[in-house]
Amino acid sequence: MKLQINDTFLKELPADPIKENTRRQVSEACYSFAEPTKTEFPEIVHFSFDVAKILGITEDEAKSEEFLKVFTGNQLIENTTPYAMCYGGHQFGHWAGQLGDGRAINLAEVSHNEKQWTLQLKGAGATPYSRTADGLAVLRSSVREYLCSEAMFHLGVPTTRALSLSLSGDQVMRDVLYNGNPAYEKGAIVCRVSPSFLRFGSYEVLSARQDHKTLKTLVDYTLKHLYPNCELNKAGYIQFFKEVSLKTLDMVIHWQRVGFVHGVMNTDNMSILGLTIDYGPYGWLEDYNKAWTPNTTDAEHKRYQFGKQSSIALWNLLKLANALYPLIEEAEPLEEILNDYKKLYAGKYLGMIKAKIGLEINDEGDLKLIEDLETVLGKTETDMTIFYRNLSNVSNDLVVPERDEVSFLDTVFDAFYKPEEVKGEVLFFWKDWFNSYLERLQKETKSDADRKLIMDKVNPKYVLRNYMSQVAIDAADKGDYSIIDELYQLLKQPYSEQEGSEKWFVKRPEWARTKVGCSMLSCSS
Ligand code: AMP
Ligand code: MG
Repeated sequence: MKLQINDTFLKELPADPIKENTRRQVSEACYSFAEPTKTEFPEIVHFSFDVAKILGITEDEAKSEEFLKVFTGNQLIENTTPYAMCYGGHQFGHWAGQLGDGRAINLAEVSHNEKQWTLQLKGAGATPYSRTADGLAVLRSSVREYLCSEAMFHLGVPTTRALSLSLSGDQVMRDVLYNGNPAYEKGAIVCRVSPSFLRFGSYEVLSARQDHKTLKTLVDYTLKHLYPNCELNKAGYIQFFKEVSLKTLDMVIHWQRVGFVHGVMNTDNMSILGLTIDYGPYGWLEDYNKAWTPNTTDAEHKRYQFGKQSSIALWNLLKLANALYPLIEEAEPLEEILNDYKKLYAGKYLGMIKAKIGLEINDEGDLKLIEDLETVLGKTETDMTIFYRNLSNVSNDLVVPERDEVSFLDTVFDAFYKPEEVKGEVLFFWKDWFNSYLERLQKETKSDADRKLIMDKVNPKYVLRNYMSQVAIDAADKGDYSIIDELYQLLKQPYSEQEGSEKWFVKRPEWARTKVGCSMLSCSS
């Protein structure tokens, strides 16, 4: 492999002077040197040729012994020095102090086709930031991260990518339900790829320590490499914050569009590039319940539930603004950006849902139409993905009958988990909504076929439903990686009809309703 190394992070930012891999507080530095732990029987489970290509790795190289060794942490890339990044974070609303890459190690930064990428192993052993944990990751969480980050990319959602999924060959002890029943699981390593892994928490930790010198160095680095249109002065810092807020907003709108719930939107999991990062106890909305979160650790307060992701992102942006304040020393422009976020969100959210239901022109009744849709979707368990995807088959000249019959709902009927509940008040609401929707469609100019084409580009047919990952994980645990590959291939074209794949366009099966890993996930990974 001939990767073009371009280690700007290492060269331009201050390093922790201590070289030992011991756990500690690290000050006046952005990273600490840390090498991956070697493993005896590593094995590549899957690799993404798409991601290999953007790095300049050929298919043959990706199948080589060298690739296996490098991306399981058993061999260093020539002329590189691996490191773990220092960051802090607000976790579940509280400042948690230094966190850092406790189980992530950046192997190198590479340039290819004028793009810059950082290669990062997750689960390759302890670092100075591992605190009381082991620095490792298990197969189930690694399969989930690997498949989901690539699926999100193909859905058009800003995200970090994944190059490879490997087994370390070692066993890792985990207590999945945190109920005193630890067991051994297969250890795994994902190689993640992103233009940068900087997070809100990278800036927060320096600000919290009043290390304004390093803060300025890091912000200037960020602007130079990631926000090159921002100047290195106060106006540029404000512009930077504005751009981060716009990117974050864009990411959250995409999450709401495809039904993705991140699950742990702590500020250490918020990318400075507005990328979806750190796939932990995330989940996909199945029935349209805005209060849903897959994360059992958050079951009580549901801080990170689907419907609150935008306000949490705003709260996180406020924490970033506070962290940047020492460089700007003016609250007003930052407050203005935060206020704009709220206004922009309302407009973008409306536009996004309008696109999902095939509306292009503006009409004063649109907001109410969408509010009513969200209400009726919540009346009885209704599958978000199936509903929106099939709505594009509704014809302009559909007539809602006066009588108490459900046939007008034929196109979307598959979306109901409990079809027997679609009667009485629920049916009345659906009739009402469809009448308004059909009336509203009359104001549009597109034909049924053209509207369908456009709707099918924003309403995915295939998403990584929670149970699908679990099916792939259960097989992988037994050494069968075929479902990982099947899902990986399927999710490369989430908006396309794919022959032979209809089995993945179905509601969550009943067995998955309460199964751990499907409807609920802990942070144990
Ligand atoms: P998360 O919320 O999963 O993104 O992780 C929060 C913090 O805990 C980060 O600093 C992680 O690096 C760290 N962490 C999570 N799991 C482990 C682990 N198994 N070993 C070391 N650090 C970990
Ligand atoms: Mg994290």
